[in-house]
Amino acid sequence: MIQTSFSYDALPMRVRFGSGVIASLPEEIARLGARRALVLCSPEQRDTGEAIAGALGDRSAGVLAEARMHVPVEVAARARARAAELGADACVAVGGGSAIGLGKAVALEHGLPVVAVPTTYAGSEMTTVWGITENGRKRTGKDPRVLPAAVLYDPDLTLGLPIAMSVTSGFNAVAHAVEALYAPDRSPVVSLMAEEGVRAMTEALPAVFADGGDADARAKALYASWLCGATLGATTMSLHHKLCHALGGTLDLPHAATHTVVLPHALAHNQPAAPDAAEALSRALHADDPARRLWDLAGSLDAPRSLRDLGMSESDIDPICDEVVNAPYANPAPVTRESVRRLLHTAWTGDPPR
Ligand code: NAD
Repeated sequence: MIQTSFSYDALPMRVRFGSGVIASLPEEIARLGARRALVLCSPEQRDTGEAIAGALGDRSAGVLAEARMHVPVEVAARARARAAELGADACVAVGGGSAIGLGKAVALEHGLPVVAVPTTYAGSEMTTVWGITENGRKRTGKDPRVLPAAVLYDPDLTLGLPIAMSVTSGFNAVAHAVEALYAPDRSPVVSLMAEEGVRAMTEALPAVFADGGDADARAKALYASWLCGATLGATTMSLHHKLCHALGGTLDLPHAATHTVVLPHALAHNQPAAPDAAEALSRALHADDPARRLWDLAGSLDAPRSLRDLGMSESDIDPICDEVVNAPYANPAPVTRESVRRLLHTAWTGDPPR
């Protein structure tokens, strides 16, 4: 059905996409009026960070290869101190959500503009959401200052993303689009992006799985991650993201893999209460039952399908239930303790969604 009542705020965002687009980074830094950019990346991508700093030449202030999952407060403080010490007037965050999250933490406090160069499909570069972890607790918030000033999507930089990580990161992206389709603040243009994002990502992943060096498949997956990330940036998250935040924050389960396991179950719970979303997903996935289709796809791509396999014990189900039910996000279907418990138990065993 056509949505006839909505509001939509476009985020100010410059996007450049294409093979080799990373070569335009010096131009993008200059365009911001900046002279020296600090390159942020995780230790595993130091070589990529160094190569980018090399290409920046005298517009590089150096490399900080310390990004880690969930932005530990001490890493954020070191990045800010290093930026000040080196006289950096911009940051380049290259990598997945961890590196981009670190760039956001610097932007939040120092106001330095960030150019994001995403190399996974997590989508953080498209949102105003930041997070910083201190004493095992992640504080999050929304602030327009953390939105990257420019995003360079270069599929060449994703060719080396390990296959297993590519698949789970792809599901992470799909999860953003799925929840955007039934978000309380959904709007027609965002729903179009979400449907196309799901279609493109689920078409790309089997080809990436077959050959991680398939340039066309990599470009399609990155294109899909842009669309899916943009839908996350434009809407309010629901039960699926709440479950993943609780599982990741409390049990330290791996981010993208957790999204992959939980998504079919959260969707199975919500799709009867969100007929327009279910219809869009049926078109995108060529399936009558989108939740089951996603569960089957995960299996065919050797992705994890059970929380038990991710290291969660059965006794963790009740505390996670409490966390989800006590501070629920918006959701199309009612969220009761019993329904969340059933959902989590099925996700824990790895049985098909019901
Ligand atoms: P990640 O950034 O932690 O990356 C995982 C690993 O893959 C790292 O070791 C990284 O160096 C490596 N890697 C990344 N790209 C690579 C490539 N192309 N080739 C080889 N190795 C590569 O993982 P992620 O899933 O992208 O991000 C997860 C984090 O992002 C979480 O902390 C999550 O909360 C956050 N996140 C935030 C938002 C938001 O809107 N704020 C959205 C999504 C995710």
